[in-house]
Amino acid sequence: MKGTRLGEILEAFLKPLRFASKDGFQHLGSLKSVEPLISSLTAEALSLQLPSEARSGIQKLRELFSGFDSLDAPLKKERIERAFEAIRSISYPATPLPLQPAEAEKRLAALKTPLTYVKGIGPKLAERLSKKGLSTVEDLLYFLPIRYEDRSRIKKIRELIPGMSEAATGEVLAIGEARYGRKRVLEMAVSDGSAILKVKWFNFGPHIKKRFKNGQRLIIFGQVSAFGAQKEMIHPDIEVLSHDEEPGLSADFGGIVPIYSQVENFHQKTIRKIVRGVVDEYARKAVGGVPCGVSERHGLLGLAAAMREAHLPEGGPEAPIAAKKSLAFDELFLLETGLAMRRMSIKKESGISFRPDGKLEDGLKNLLPFKLTGAQARVVDEIKKDMSAPHPMNRLIQGDVGSGKTVVSLIAALTAIETGFQAALMAPTEILAEQHYLLSHRYAESLGLKAVLLTGNATKAERKKRLDSVRDGQTQFVIGTHALIQKDVEFKKLGLAIIDEQHRFGVVQRGELKRKGFRSEQGISPDILIMTATPIPRTLSMTVFGDLDVSIIDELPPGRKPVQTKVLRENQRPFAYETIRRELEGGSQAYIVYPLVEESKELSLRDATSMKEHLQRDIFREWRVGLLHGRMKSGEKEAVMRDFKENRLNILVSTTVIEVGVDVPNATVMLIEHAERFGLAQLHQLRGRVGRGTNSSVCMLVAGWTNSEDTYKRLKVMEETNDGFRIAEEDLKIRGAGDFIGTRQAGLPDFRTEGALSDLSLLKKAREEAIGYLKGNPGLTGPEGEVIKRVLKARWQERLELAEIG
Ligand code: ADP
Ligand code: MG
Repeated sequence: MKGTRLGEILEAFLKPLRFASKDGFQHLGSLKSVEPLISSLTAEALSLQLPSEARSGIQKLRELFSGFDSLDAPLKKERIERAFEAIRSISYPATPLPLQPAEAEKRLAALKTPLTYVKGIGPKLAERLSKKGLSTVEDLLYFLPIRYEDRSRIKKIRELIPGMSEAATGEVLAIGEARYGRKRVLEMAVSDGSAILKVKWFNFGPHIKKRFKNGQRLIIFGQVSAFGAQKEMIHPDIEVLSHDEEPGLSADFGGIVPIYSQVENFHQKTIRKIVRGVVDEYARKAVGGVPCGVSERHGLLGLAAAMREAHLPEGGPEAPIAAKKSLAFDELFLLETGLAMRRMSIKKESGISFRPDGKLEDGLKNLLPFKLTGAQARVVDEIKKDMSAPHPMNRLIQGDVGSGKTVVSLIAALTAIETGFQAALMAPTEILAEQHYLLSHRYAESLGLKAVLLTGNATKAERKKRLDSVRDGQTQFVIGTHALIQKDVEFKKLGLAIIDEQHRFGVVQRGELKRKGFRSEQGISPDILIMTATPIPRTLSMTVFGDLDVSIIDELPPGRKPVQTKVLRENQRPFAYETIRRELEGGSQAYIVYPLVEESKELSLRDATSMKEHLQRDIFREWRVGLLHGRMKSGEKEAVMRDFKENRLNILVSTTVIEVGVDVPNATVMLIEHAERFGLAQLHQLRGRVGRGTNSSVCMLVAGWTNSEDTYKRLKVMEETNDGFRIAEEDLKIRGAGDFIGTRQAGLPDFRTEGALSDLSLLKKAREEAIGYLKGNPGLTGPEGEVIKRVLKARWQERLELAEIG
């Protein structure tokens, strides 16, 4: 719109309206005889060649302003509000569809324009932006503000309220450096006649000093503080005004102003300017994937309008929220459409029909020192039923920590092996892969099978030997980490891929393992079995794992005692140490978990490395304390783990690397430091490391020096229940879906609209609408369907690995 004559006309139109509407329409009175102006502007606009939509919008404006000057204030206000709406609909038609597919294709391509091609962005600037992951126009359009500040009310300095973020104007009275001890501070006094405001910089370069001069008029926004009666702002946003300029018509002041996440050391003002340029030129090209009907039903803005409103809010403080909601809905709708399509296509894929005679399974059951629980047996049946079908299995096993998922997966592996195929198990960490290997290869060998371990740390020669045995089929069961999906790994006949702790792997990795399957190039897919210990509430799993069938192991092996959990305050630390000592004296072992590896300057958190020293030296002198964290070399990690497993270490100080799967039944006490930093689901995972033997276990959560009652209450849930699903529900309620799963962890692609997953009801609506729409138009045909297909392809194909969108 910018740069066209119509754009200029609309801009000329908007200027007085924006001014009049500022500060809650305080300036309505200064709006005199607008009628002639509007009438000549609209007349000119109507003389242009315009699409009919724009034409009727202009006509509407004309009507709105006929007789305007003689109206009373409330009516004027209403007319202006409606005028804003009309102008928005001219610039950005509310619903992007129906759009011709060819046109959509063109626009989608335009959005991929590299930022270097954008006016005003040179190669240097582009490079700095790319460090933040911003390389195309689309990236920048989706670089949405992290928050907004309401700078629409410019106050008298005297009326500024300490503690609030506010805007004021004034003249520079003086500027100079002051010294407080050894610290240099730049201070500036600004007055508007009502009072003096002191502006301070603790970090400043020469450019700031040069920027301001006595007598200059400034507009200032920042958090107000008070030093006695003196009002102050520290490092505020400032803009220099020329003397006749009306404050408030810039992008940085005088309205709802977007705040972006930091890019390099750019000023917010600079970021805003860059974004604004791109938005002005490209936002209108944004193509959404939400059909008209759906959009209307949920009162959504078209994608283009939402984009613009999110970056350059004009419609009041609520508008950006509505805009972000529209952007999020668009993403969710497309995601759900993509997932639904994938589900439909998987059901059609051909797979392997496994028909074992059951000897290996029986053999294993004879070797096991226990009987399967009812829940395990049920899940085994569900898996076997899937595996015997001629379509690929895509099943997720959810089971709380310690529920015994490993044997279940082992039986699945034997089912594949007995039919003449290979099975692979992929775990997220070396420790886990090793643990799985240690357990399974013994059973495998007793059954006359061969298993190998593939991780990153085998010697070259050893690795080659193992790879060869996988390639020629001598090895039937392959266990490993990400190393399994590397290029050089080839299977003779992979029939089943098992993924442990799915949430650590992305959808993409799932796909890569799948492609290593037997005859995958001929369209035959291996079976996939995924295991996760993160109980995912039903509401979410439907959506997040929309393409998977779910089995739940909801029963713990007999004889387990629930872990006793206690939330402690910092001053109860001696009690915590006492409890640990008592358990150690009884011959048990202990975990002490910290959120960080090394001491961090910013956060005064106890960290694993330095606390290990302290604990060994000052607290548990007579016991052996070991350290485990993710930055150690894998060899070191393994050595420590083995020492702990074999009881050569009494206490293991660690970060969250022990979170998943680690199985040391003799460990009966866990202390988690800074528990407030963890989500409940994660705490539950950690806690699952104890209570794995027959002795009763204790978990203590120390909540740091927090005085927040909310934190304390949240942690109390851990005392009340050991039920992973309940904890997950609570966590979900508190944190929202986005945080809960951490999209990446859930194996979901990242959303571009931050917080897209924070509103469960929005997610549900998007899902329902997507499924509903596909029911009516399963092939995504017709102009609207074609457009959706193209948007889906452009935005989600890679992220979702959608094989078959047109
Ligand atoms: P997770 O589901 O957390 O992966 P594991 O498979 O590691 O759990 O099992 C936890 C422990 O329970 C292991 O020591 C395993 O040998 C044991 N276990 C598994 N199934 C049973 C069972 N039916 N009866 C008794 N112990 C079992
Ligand atoms: Mg496990």
